[in-house]
Amino acid sequence: MKKRLVLLGAPGSGKGTQAELITRQFGIPVTSPGAILRREKDLGTPLGTETSEIIQQGGLVPDATIVKLIEDWLRLHGAHGFVFDGFPRTVPQAESLAAILNRHHTPLDLAIWLEVSEETVRDRISGRLQCRSCGFVTSVAAGNFSERAVCPYCEGPLVRRNDDDLEVLQNRLREYHAKTEPLAAFYQDTGLLHRIDGNRDREMVFGDISRLIESK
Ligand code: AMP
Repeated sequence: MKKRLVLLGAPGSGKGTQAELITRQFGIPVTSPGAILRREKDLGTPLGTETSEIIQQGGLVPDATIVKLIEDWLRLHGAHGFVFDGFPRTVPQAESLAAILNRHHTPLDLAIWLEVSEETVRDRISGRLQCRSCGFVTSVAAGNFSERAVCPYCEGPLVRRNDDDLEVLQNRLREYHAKTEPLAAFYQDTGLLHRIDGNRDREMVFGDISRLIESK
């Protein structure tokens, strides 16, 4: 079984949703720098405070900050593999990851790119709700949340992310095209890249991902 994976794709491409399905089905631990930084902000830590403005504007947090988060996480939780949701997002981040994994003799198994249209991105981002407590992601359309939007798993409040605003999305997409898309060539060269049509429903996408994870 493949157990060292990165999930790549535009905002709203389904990385978080698929990461959650992967961890539930295969028990591979997942982490996401975006989720860590939102939690740090809620806790009022210096890291959360320093990075919240960049996130709110739709920019990318400096590579060194993100790589340190991932390195710390790998040291503590990386022994049984990983799914990175939203990392790497730049070529220097991918190079740092490769160097870290080389040092531990634990090479990456898969780089999965969830390809989605801009229409899918806009639809998903404008309807996205996230649990403030456990991070569960759903959409306004998925349930009848007219009274009070509550997480079905932990009863935490379901809220809109403050960077899920259509104007901020323009900046996030600009960063994505300029800094993240070049990663496709990077992973193509290593032979690890697999492109999946992420416009389909979550179960179909997950079926394709599962086959990749279970492949020899
Ligand atoms: P996400 O939850 O993956 O959509 O990330 C939310 C925000 O966190 C992004 O728009 C960035 O501002 C920041 N962020 C998350 N991951 C990274 C990364 N790998 N590199 C730089 N910034 C990141």
